Amino acid sequence: MGKVTGFMEYERIEEGYKPVPERLKNYKEFVIGLDDAQANKQAARCMDCGTPFCNSGCPVNNIIPDFNDMVFRADWKSAIDTLHSTNNFPEFTGRICPAPCEAACTLNVNDDAVGIKSIEHAIIDRAWAEGWVKPQPSPHKTGKKVAVVGSGPAGMAAAQQLARAGHAVTLFEKNDRVGGLLRYGIPDFKMEKVHIDRRVEQMQAEGVTFRTGVMVGAVKDPLGKDSRVTNWARETITPEQLQKEFDAILLTGGAEQSRDLPVPGRDLTGVHFAMEFLPQQNKVNAGDKVKDQLRADGKHVIVIGGGDTGSDCVGTSNRHGAASVTQFELMPQPPEEENRPMTWPYWPIKLRTSSSHEEGCEREFAISTKELLGEKGKVTGLKTVRVEWKDGKMQEVAGSEQTLKADLVLLAMGFVAPVSAVLTAFGVEKDARGNARATTDFVGGYATNVPKVFAAGDIRRGQSLVVWAIREGRQAARSVDEFLMGYSDLPR
Ligand SMILES: Cc1cc2nc3c(=O)[nH]c(=O)nc-3n(C[C@H](O)[C@H](O)[C@H](O)COP(=O)(O)OP(=O)(O)OC[C@H]3O[C@@H](n4cnc5c(N)ncnc54)[C@H](O)[C@@H]3O)c2cc1C
Ligand code: SF4
Repeated sequence: MGKVTGFMEYERIEEGYKPVPERLKNYKEFVIGLDDAQANKQAARCMDCGTPFCNSGCPVNNIIPDFNDMVFRADWKSAIDTLHSTNNFPEFTGRICPAPCEAACTLNVNDDAVGIKSIEHAIIDRAWAEGWVKPQPSPHKTGKKVAVVGSGPAGMAAAQQLARAGHAVTLFEKNDRVGGLLRYGIPDFKMEKVHIDRRVEQMQAEGVTFRTGVMVGAVKDPLGKDSRVTNWARETITPEQLQKEFDAILLTGGAEQSRDLPVPGRDLTGVHFAMEFLPQQNKVNAGDKVKDQLRADGKHVIVIGGGDTGSDCVGTSNRHGAASVTQFELMPQPPEEENRPMTWPYWPIKLRTSSSHEEGCEREFAISTKELLGEKGKVTGLKTVRVEWKDGKMQEVAGSEQTLKADLVLLAMGFVAPVSAVLTAFGVEKDARGNARATTDFVGGYATNVPKVFAAGDIRRGQSLVVWAIREGRQAARSVDEFLMGYSDLPR
């Protein structure tokens, strides 16, 4: 434990943000990380409380009290070694994790939680700057070949772990670049893509082969017209080819099927899934030319869906120069403060205001869209109604209909399931929600019903978080390693 009285002496320090007018001019990250003195004080606040709830609140079980102590003592090298022992990519989570660890921090019972995420961010940025993040190629090769299908955080984490265990790993990705939703979903202003590129270089040096632009399990129009998922594949490979060539296959294709809004007017021009809108801007930021890019300039934008994806649409629309941005949420507005004795150490439901909201956005709660209105095939507005919950059921509030102007409507209501064509092509059984059926058991976890085929990340658990994808990728890698070798030294 760093400083015994630190939690009484020092306050929580939030990371700084560049001013709104400045950050709206570009798509660069704008969070100003902690400096050494701030990190020292923040780490000194950790009480090393004996039962570190933060450690179990963190899906990858980061050993938080230990790295807090190391940062307090300015032993940054040990801090990154500790952090890397549980998390392959702390630069991803240190930027975009919602930090359930902080909800679980014991200090959060009656004070402000330790700024764990900001410390994680400081540790990994320091490690890259010092040149401490190096390839760790396995000294022994097993001669086994593993195919990982899908290069999001789950696929990347699994591929890295399996390569370090000595297997020959090929990571297949249908898009033109590696990273999954980190690359083509999460905007650059939340996480610049250089962080993925650096890890790809590291993994290549560790022996991972990346094959982008390759769709696995494709048939003609495998996704169906309504899937509208990102797909820049130039080549297809059948499951049979993979089964023949590889000793094990891990499916990490995400949950890409967006939830639709089946109301009159859905087919109007100007009504799009968030995942048609966001990836295009990421491509432009990467220097690609996007023909007829969906843009919000001068438009009245309505974002339907109050979560992270919706918030990313708000931030991107404001950077385009939208005339107005309004975000709808079906649920009622949650309280600003949670009832901590009731919710701690769990993730509380409370009003969350993202950096994108702060940049300019009207937020409407308890509102439902009944119809999308248009002229000459183009969207011009929405017909809405207020809703309330009675006996657990949603009811429309009589007389609350309203018509709002809109030139661009972005649907960000979450993701229903993986694109089923991939699972069907492999013959993988689905659970009731349409996800790949596989347990997370200590022995035999992540295995599907198809021999030597495993599944992890959003494709197995449904739409989730980057940190959960990393956890599943790591755990699945251990399962695959055990399957191939009869034992595994990989951590879970
Ligand atoms: C807009 C948006 C913002 C988000 N913001 C956050 C956030 O701030 N913090 C957070 O923690 N989480 C966030 N999430 C959720 C997070 O990104 C996902 O939970 C996470 O990326 C899931 O990882 P994954 O590896 O399972 O799948 P994905 O990241 O979805 O990656 C799957 C990859 O597999 C590829 N693929 C699919 N099928 C095939 C196939 N047949 N052949 C070849 N390749 C295939 C896909 O192209 C994709 O690249 C956000 C999600 C979205 C959409
Ligand atoms: S990965 Fe997320 S939950 Fe875990 S320590 Fe980092 S911020 Fe907290």
